[in-house]
Amino acid sequence: MQTYLYTYDLPSDVVDVKSVAMDTETTGLCLHRDRLCLIQFNCGDGVSHLVHFPEPIYDRSPNVCGLLTNGHVQKIFHYARFDVGVLGVAFGVFAKNVYCTKVASKLARTFTDQHSLKALCRDLLGVDISKNEQQSYWGASTLTPEQLKYASVDVLYLHELKKILDSILIREGRFDLAQGCFDFIPLVAQLDVSGGWHDIFDH
Ligand code: MN
Repeated sequence: MQTYLYTYDLPSDVVDVKSVAMDTETTGLCLHRDRLCLIQFNCGDGVSHLVHFPEPIYDRSPNVCGLLTNGHVQKIFHYARFDVGVLGVAFGVFAKNVYCTKVASKLARTFTDQHSLKALCRDLLGVDISKNEQQSYWGASTLTPEQLKYASVDVLYLHELKKILDSILIREGRFDLAQGCFDFIPLVAQLDVSGGWHDIFDH
């Protein structure tokens, strides 16, 4: 695994592919309180590109924003709803063409309630990934080698997971249902960010 670290934006030529795995690290899980600290990208080639935000400055990322709004590039997340929301708060744009391995797993793997990234890597790939750094301080001006490694691994396996999950979804006749859910994620994230809607489908 190779890792490249940048500050505030991606170089313009890094993501020239049809699909990119993405993840974010934040100071917490509350969209309206916590901030974006790191965005990870992996094009499925074992190379992770990390964009660090040492300060809460989000107007220096034209290449990241261009990628998010480029409908020709599919963005593969695990639990896309949160990442798309966090990125929406930071940049004021909501990602287009999103895939979520957590939603895919819920639709494909109805025989289990284990849908975390760690569980998917273990069950589908036989890989044990560490989640030790998840609760570390990502707002620091310099990230530790352990944090950088953890962050890189979080986007390393998403393409492989997607491939396996898609094959199950197709076999079980649930691919269109999954696609409909993925298409809806940017709107759900937008509702989360605007706040006050709770679950719009509740009675
Ligand atoms: Mn992560």
